[in-house]
Amino acid sequence: MNAMEHSIVIDEDKCTGCGACVEYCHVDAIAVSPETGVVEVVDLEICIECHSCQQNCPEGAIKVYPQLEESMKQM
Ligand code: SF4
Ligand code: SF4
Repeated sequence: MNAMEHSIVIDEDKCTGCGACVEYCHVDAIAVSPETGVVEVVDLEICIECHSCQQNCPEGAIKVYPQLEESMKQM
């Protein structure tokens, strides 16, 4: 995978399904799945890469790529 490629990676072993990331997502790009009880990507296209979900996850279970440092390097 290209390091600069837009993606949301969820560590399902770490995610507790607390929903904090969902609360912080302004565009509803992510949601807690009723089937699995962990967070899942609903629509990657609408994700604005704000990184709020990642920054507010108490478990460090969600990562949004490109990471902020990587985005900065591109600017
Ligand atoms: S980076 Fe922002 S827009 Fe994208 S899923 Fe996380 S909170 Fe939502
Ligand atoms: S904030 Fe973290 S632990 Fe909570 S649902 Fe989101 S990814 Fe899972």
